[in-house]
Amino acid sequence: MGAVARPAPIQQSFIIMSDSSIRLRPADTPTPQSGYIPYKHSRYWRSQVEAAHNRRPIVSVFMTQKAFVRVNVHATSDLDNEVGGWLIGNWREDQVTGEEYIVVDNCLPAQDVRQGSAYLTFTQNSQVAMFEMMESKFPDKELVGWYHTHPKMSVFLSNYDLFLHNNFFPHPWQVALVIEPHGNTAGFFVRDKHGNLDARKYFGFHELSDDQRRSVVHWTNMKEEFTESLSMMENNNE
Ligand SMILES: [Zn+2]
Repeated sequence: MGAVARPAPIQQSFIIMSDSSIRLRPADTPTPQSGYIPYKHSRYWRSQVEAAHNRRPIVSVFMTQKAFVRVNVHATSDLDNEVGGWLIGNWREDQVTGEEYIVVDNCLPAQDVRQGSAYLTFTQNSQVAMFEMMESKFPDKELVGWYHTHPKMSVFLSNYDLFLHNNFFPHPWQVALVIEPHGNTAGFFVRDKHGNLDARKYFGFHELSDDQRRSVVHWTNMKEEFTESLSMMENNNE
């Protein structure tokens, strides 16, 4: 979504989502599932702007190669209008270190969206369809975030995007992914431990793979970083 906020759809979406607020904040998932953070099966893609800021995300973002390809196929399917959808996966906590992370392993493209070159919102129909799909197709999964494109814009969150994120994705560990499909740039927006979200400073992610030899990532504003230097960065940011 671009910088222009449209009051009428916001109001409408807010009312619609108020009806779904119980389902958006399920009472049975107050804590993350236990797991082992899969550093060994992943490679880290560090965003260009990440070096310049000193924030630690509250969760580390892992994304499977399958999910990465699916999201990018959708993102590049319309180079003029914004498209978007939901990120499906799990919120977990490492059994040893207690570090929280999410694994994005699928996506649900939003079918019924109101879209324009700098404008996209999820409608009531698309939200209802998404929740029905989640319950039938992904009963063990969680809504870990959402994605949308910014054709011929930069990677950032507009005021409208921030509004959507804070109202519809209120969990601290839910993330927003923005993709610019012309230059193939992208970034994950992740809250810090204080709940703050910087609309300009985004993060890279961990590409989760069964095949360590080949990467499928082609985002030009990210660089692969080795685990050693990643640990150093994390220590420096404490
Ligand atoms: Zn946007």
